[in-house]
Amino acid sequence: MSAIQSLVRKSIQELKPYSSARDEFSGLADIYLDANESPYETNYNRYPDPHQKTLKAAIALEKGIQPNEIFIGNGSDEAIDLLIRAFCEPNQDSILITEPTYGMYSVCANINGVKISKVTLSETFEIQTDVIIKAIDESVKIIFLCSPNNPSGNLLNKEKIRELLSMYNGLVVIDEAYIDFAADPGFIPELKQFPRLAVLQTFSKAWGLAGLRIGMCFSSPEIISVLNKIKYPYNVNTISQQLCLTALQNKNDKELRVREIIKEREMLKEQLEKLPIVQKVYPTDANFLLVIFKNASDIFKSLSSSKIIVRDRSQVVLCDNCLRITVGTPKENYILLNTLKAL
Ligand SMILES: *Cc1c(COP(=O)(O)O)cnc(C)c1O
Repeated sequence: MSAIQSLVRKSIQELKPYSSARDEFSGLADIYLDANESPYETNYNRYPDPHQKTLKAAIALEKGIQPNEIFIGNGSDEAIDLLIRAFCEPNQDSILITEPTYGMYSVCANINGVKISKVTLSETFEIQTDVIIKAIDESVKIIFLCSPNNPSGNLLNKEKIRELLSMYNGLVVIDEAYIDFAADPGFIPELKQFPRLAVLQTFSKAWGLAGLRIGMCFSSPEIISVLNKIKYPYNVNTISQQLCLTALQNKNDKELRVREIIKEREMLKEQLEKLPIVQKVYPTDANFLLVIFKNASDIFKSLSSSKIIVRDRSQVVLCDNCLRITVGTPKENYILLNTLKAL
C-alpha cells in the first residue's frame, strides 16, 4: 500500500463506489435507455457528466495541471467535507486548524465526529511552525491552512508552509479561496513536490459565481481519486458546469473585475485609515479588509441601521473590536465611507 493509501480510512479503502449508468457506458450512442431518465427533451432531462470532463479540461488548461489532479465539488465546502471524511476516523482522528480561520473546517469536523486541535496564529496572523509541530500528535491527519487567510486577509508565509510540508506526514490543505486577489501564484506550482498537499480554490469569489456552487481541489492523482470515489455521483449539476465553462472562456471579464476590486481595496484601506473611529486596517491580499474600530459593535449596529451589512468578527480570537468588510463596487464603497464618516 502506498503512503497516501495508508492514510485513507479503512472503510473508504475497502469501499466499492456506486457505479452510475454513465460510469458503465461513457461512449456515444444513439439511444440511451440505461439511466431511467425521461426520453423527452427538456434541456435537462439527462444526468450531468459525473466526471465533469469538459470543465476539468478547461480548468486544467487554466491552471497548468492535469485533469487527474483536479476534483470539482459543490463548492469548495464539499471538498473540505470529503477530505475529512476520507482521511479522519470518527471518534479517533483529528484535524488541526490555525485560528482565527474559516469556520467550515471545524463545522465539517464536528459533523463527522472528528476532533479539532487548535493553535493560534501570531499577532500578525502568521503561522508559527514550531507551535504547530508541537501540537501535532498521532491523531492529527489533516492540517488546514487558509492563505490568504479569512478573516485576516493576509497570505501566509510560504517558506513556513514548505517547512511544515516537509516535516509533517499527514495531509496539508491550503485553502486559496482568495488567491486571485493576491500578487502570488499560490501553491499549485508546487503540487508535484508535495504529494500530500491539497490546494482548494473556488469560483465563488474572484470569478463572481458563488451561486453556481463550484469549488476545486488540486492534489496528487492518488488523493484526487479518493475524493472522486466518495463524492455523490452527480455532485455538480448541468447548468453550473455549463455556465462555469462559459466564465472560463471569458476569463478576461474576471480579470478586469479583479483589477477593479484590488484598486478599490487600496482606496478603501487608505480612506478607512483616515477615520478617527478606525484604529487599524490590517494589510490584506484578499477582497476584504479586517478593521479594528474603537467600538466595533456600535459601528456594526449603526451600519446595519443604515442597511449596510459587514461581518462582525469581534468575538473571534485575535480579532477584538474587528469588523470584516468586503470590497464592494465603487458606489457601495463610497456610501460605506460616507456613512462611517457621519458616525
Ligand atoms: C468563501 C470561502 C470559501 C468558498 O467556499 P465555496 O463553498 O467554494 O463557496 C472557501 N474557503 C474560504 C476560506 C472562504 O472564505
